[in-house]
Order: sequence, then structure tokens, then C-alpha cells
Amino acid sequence: MSGTEPVTLVVRGATVVNADWQGRADVFVSGETVAALAAPGTPVPGGAGAAEIDASGLLVLPGGVDPHCHVGFTSGDYTSLDDYRQCTTAAVFGGTTTIVDFAIPRPGERPADAARKQRDKAARGVCDSALHGCVVEWDDTTADQLAEMSAAGVRTVKMFTTYRGESMADEDTILRTMKTLRDLGGMVVIHCEADHIVSDTQTRCAAEGRIGAGHMAATRPELAETASVAEILAIAESVGAPVYFVHQSTAEAVELVAAARRRGVRAYTEAVAHHLVLDDSVYAGEHPERFVCCPPLRPRAAVEALGRHLFTGEVSTIGSDHCCYDTAQKEERHHDVRVMPNGLPGVETRLPVVFSEYVVGHGLEPTRFVELTAANPARANGIYPRKGAVLPGSDADIALWDPGARWRVRAEELHMATDYTPYEGRELTGRPVTVLVRGRVVVRDGVLVDGTPRGRHVPSGPIPARL
Ligand SMILES: [Zn+2]
Repeated sequence: MSGTEPVTLVVRGATVVNADWQGRADVFVSGETVAALAAPGTPVPGGAGAAEIDASGLLVLPGGVDPHCHVGFTSGDYTSLDDYRQCTTAAVFGGTTTIVDFAIPRPGERPADAARKQRDKAARGVCDSALHGCVVEWDDTTADQLAEMSAAGVRTVKMFTTYRGESMADEDTILRTMKTLRDLGGMVVIHCEADHIVSDTQTRCAAEGRIGAGHMAATRPELAETASVAEILAIAESVGAPVYFVHQSTAEAVELVAAARRRGVRAYTEAVAHHLVLDDSVYAGEHPERFVCCPPLRPRAAVEALGRHLFTGEVSTIGSDHCCYDTAQKEERHHDVRVMPNGLPGVETRLPVVFSEYVVGHGLEPTRFVELTAANPARANGIYPRKGAVLPGSDADIALWDPGARWRVRAEELHMATDYTPYEGRELTGRPVTVLVRGRVVVRDGVLVDGTPRGRHVPSGPIPARL
């Protein structure tokens, strides 16, 4: 401890879990940051004045960092239903204390303007946020805009190889954006599904009358994902730029990225919670539209193969791909997946679902859980160790986690701006009980005690050479 700042809060009696270490320690907080990890029972220097939380039997996790979260996102004819306040409130209930949103420009909008507008919303959050920009088309102002965004702390840029006519970028644009970001310490984060394969498949499905939500899995084949990943990896390798693949849904796609990484390419895999837990059998159920997302849910064997890569180290991060539509929006045009809204609500359930399924269910080490859900997402966004760690100097964003709590997921007890959850009725083990944001208790024993919007945009520094 430096001794200059008074300790304002001590969390005692817990097991601290960081990405590289776990053990018994008391956590001393000074104002908004962690001052020290101390041996259990260490007295507070200077004596009284610090609040104490007895966290016996709990885990102290760094608050989750959700690297993939769409807030109030407009795509096609639909806008998802939350704003920063609602999304971050749901996030903290689920143990996540930093979200990373996207600034996707509307047609004709400059990417730098979209980023500035979205960044200004951070102040409405209950917790902090970082931001991905987005480039769709390259013109002679794009390089300057990327430099402007980077200087403002937006260094990761989303791109798409699908959604033609909306957010899809061509290969020249992707290559130029990668090169420019490489020199700015930034990184392209990319949604890979080969649009020509997807649109041809969809046309064929539609001609056969199989284009409703129940046929979702067939309309966006695994091949489309692997083909696009291979192409984008080749571009990254050719120009020596880092690249991060969002929501990889198949082991084959993950393995392409891992092989490139072994050749020295700075290539990373994000998996999202729903691809790690749910499978395509839901499309044969009563409400297939509630599970329509891109890429779609895959067969059980593919889910298990993807899940195994959490253990091999090949998956770098776990996000939610949170997109908060409600059942009315999902149902309205469920007969045609080409025009209905894609995406699942998940910012609140990401950590508990993955903890229950993989830490409790399959023996994933808690340290690896923290690496996948907090530390690596922070590293991939250039905000580590300010976020994603409980270390001296880190923001005091902490989830006190009860690893043995058994509970059942009920949409009506969640806080996302929707009326359903894809995990309805699922029994889980483990959940956050008390959550701190920059040293303040915002959720105590499962109750929101401080919903004041104090969010900040956390500017991304250069993306590290390795995660
Ligand atoms: Zn997404």
C-alpha cells in the first residue's frame, strides 16, 4: 500500500480469483481503485474509517468485461430495446462491470461521428463502458477518421463480411482498415459469415418454403463461417495486422484461428455464451424465433466441440453478443429469418450461465473463467489491468460471487429490457451476490442499492502484442 490514500473499504474473508492466480486475501480499496491485496486479517493502516464487507465463503472476481454488447442497436427495421442505463443495470446484476458496445454508423454517417455519439452515452451507465467503432466503406477520409477515433480511445473496429447493403464491407475495405489500425495500435474485430454462401443458401431455403425461424440453422451454414474466417485470416497474415473474430460458433473456425496464431498471426477467438450452452434443437421447439441469432445455434456435437476449446486455450474471450429484442419483435416476422431481428438478450446471464455450465459442470478452473470473461476481454480492448483484474491500481470493480448458490433463471426476475430469456427455467449453480463499481457497492445481496449513472467511457490503449 502506498499509504498516501486512505483505505475506504475492505473486503474480508474471500478467495480472490484473478486470471493468473487465486488465493485467500483481503482486498483493500481506496476510493475508486484497489489499493492492495493483503494477508487475511491484516489491520487497516491508520485504523478505523474503512467500511468492511464480510465475504467469507465467496469468491472475489474482477467484475466481468463483456466484449460484445449491443445497446439500443438498430439493424434492418428493428432497434433493440435497452439504453445504457438499462443495459448496465442488467450487467451489474449479472456480475459484469464493463460493457463494450458498438458504434455502427447509419447509412451516410461518418464512423467517427457514430463513435463520438455512442461514446457520449457512457455517462448514462451504472458501470463503465468501452466502445468498438465500425467501418463499412472506405473513402479518402477513413484513415483520418480512424486516427481521430483512436486518439479518442476507440481502437477496435467492427467489420462484417455479411449483411450486404447494410454493414457488410468488401475485402479491400477490410484490408485497408486492418493496415491503418495496425499502425495505430488498434485491431479489427470481425463478424465472419461469407455473404454469398449465406444469401444463396437462404434463396434456396426460401424456394423450398423453409425460411421461417424453425429453419434458422439451415439458412446460415457452418461452411459460410469457416470460408470467411479463412479469407480474413489470409488478409491479416498478409498485412501483419491483428484480428479478433467475434462469436465463433464452430470448432473448425476456432481451429483455423489457432493454427494462424501458431504461425505468428495475432488472431483471436471470441465465443459467446449462447453458442457454448444452447444447441439447434430449440429451433424445433415452440418458440424458435426467440433463438434466432447470427451465426445460429449449432448441433449439440458442435457445441461440445466448441466448449472443449475453452480448456485447450484456443478460445480467447467469452462475450454475450447481447441484443435486447422482446418476444413481440421476435414474433412479428418469424416466418422469414431474412427480415426478422437477430440476436439474444444475454448481458446479465453471460457469467452465471458459463460459470454453471463450465466451472461447476465441467471443472473449468476459476482462474481460466476469469481470464475468458474479464481479463482477456479487457486485454483485447486495451483496458487491462484497469479493468479485468483485482490488482493494486485496478478500478475497484468487483463481483462477490457465491459459487454454490443454486437458482433457476426466470425472465421476470432478470433486469434486461425484454420479456424473455433463452435460458428460461434452467437451473444454475453460482451467481454474484454483491457487486462493486469503482469502489461503490451498487448491488448488495442481490438488490440494487445504487443505480446512479456514473458511467465513464474507458479509452482503449494500444492492443497488446499477445492476450
Ligand atoms: Zn454482435
